Amino acid sequence: MSKNIILTVIICISLNCFSQSDLKNDSVILKKIYTNALVNGKSYEWLDYLSNQIGGRLSGSLNAQKAVEWGKKELEELGIDKVWLQSVMVPKWTRGVTEFAFIETAPGVTTNVPICALGGSVPTPIGGLKASLIEVKGLEDLKKLGAEQIKGKIVFFNRPMQPDLIETFRAYGGCVDQRYSGAAEAAKYGAIGVIVRSMNLRLDDFPHTGSMSYGDLKNENKIPAAAISTNGADLLSGMLKLNPEIKFQFNMNCRSWKDVESFNVIGQITGSEYPNEYMVVGGHLDSWDLGDGAHDDGAGVVQSMEVLRLFKEIGYTPKRSIRVVLFMNEENGLRGGKKYAEKAKSKGENHVFALESDAGGFTPRGFSFNCDDNNLAQIHSWKPLFEPYLIHYFAKGYSGADVRPLKKDGNVLAGLRPDSQRYFDYHHAKNDTFDAINKRELELGAATMSSLVYLFDKYGVK
Ligand SMILES: [Zn+2]
Repeated sequence: MSKNIILTVIICISLNCFSQSDLKNDSVILKKIYTNALVNGKSYEWLDYLSNQIGGRLSGSLNAQKAVEWGKKELEELGIDKVWLQSVMVPKWTRGVTEFAFIETAPGVTTNVPICALGGSVPTPIGGLKASLIEVKGLEDLKKLGAEQIKGKIVFFNRPMQPDLIETFRAYGGCVDQRYSGAAEAAKYGAIGVIVRSMNLRLDDFPHTGSMSYGDLKNENKIPAAAISTNGADLLSGMLKLNPEIKFQFNMNCRSWKDVESFNVIGQITGSEYPNEYMVVGGHLDSWDLGDGAHDDGAGVVQSMEVLRLFKEIGYTPKRSIRVVLFMNEENGLRGGKKYAEKAKSKGENHVFALESDAGGFTPRGFSFNCDDNNLAQIHSWKPLFEPYLIHYFAKGYSGADVRPLKKDGNVLAGLRPDSQRYFDYHHAKNDTFDAINKRELELGAATMSSLVYLFDKYGVK
């Protein structure tokens, strides 16, 4: 053996020894994180308060303001280095009195169906809106039918989420254009209202709200838009097949107001070695108004807060500055996420990493990453550390709506990926409440997030 080869072997052996001992140290830390989250965790108690004592937190509402004050107070109680509010102007939309709707098969013969206004919709006329319907499976059908068949009618968008997609977010992505742009597109063909099948894989009686946009439509051309439950959609579709002349009536008195001031809530543990390198962990504090926003996104909020609590609790001093950000207004404007990124840029803050939890508080499976190949390779080298916790999914993909504006060359954005099979049972609906949360699943998510943040803090971004 030449001297060089011997030297290389020695270096390899010592590097290997080093990485083996690192692996051991890291697995001890991860064990501490998971144990503490499951034995002494605070995320479940926090979510109980946020869901049951505050409730739904639509941007600009009194509850959203209560949630801001609560988030600030709880972070202050953690005794971290800094807690502050970041002002942001947000849209304000109110639902008004509970909506109602019925199918009329003959004069005076009616069947009620559950609906809710889509977020941002204009109201119906005061006495409600009654018209015949035309059923379509998507935006592309509007063009085929043309104004002659659509004018004066309510367009009923009834494309279901595709059931054979294992990643339910893909099924959601394949349908959500009906909800977001359905009214804007149908109005161009003379429709007077739209009813959209709820984005839900399950058949039940909950209508699911969500954001919509009128694009560049003038105010006088805006038409009211509502979601109907999946059972309601199937009933309506069946009745339309029997008798295309049936009528549909719906009443809504929702309304948009002037923008109001709200806040992102931010807490920080300042880094001991690289205080000017920032790592963000966050979720969105606002929610829709029908339920309590327990899964969307109360879970992400309390899991993110728990990351900082766990670091304090196990005595881990991060090298980099770790920030928890409770973003405002993800649901109907994304103003908080945009504001945070804009401020970070104007201050020249170097955000090397950001992780969002906004896919429900279900059993964590892993993460999807918006990063380059070097960083993905580093992440894959950590896989054995996560194996004891059944965390196995580490792939490129979506991070999160609020952290996405922080993307720049070389940094790492990530999204927690919990099991998504039940998420759309609750998403944006009245049943998104605390009782739909499993304590252990929520805590495992918080521990999994903390572990990833710990590893990136220790080894840095490549
Ligand atoms: Zn969300």
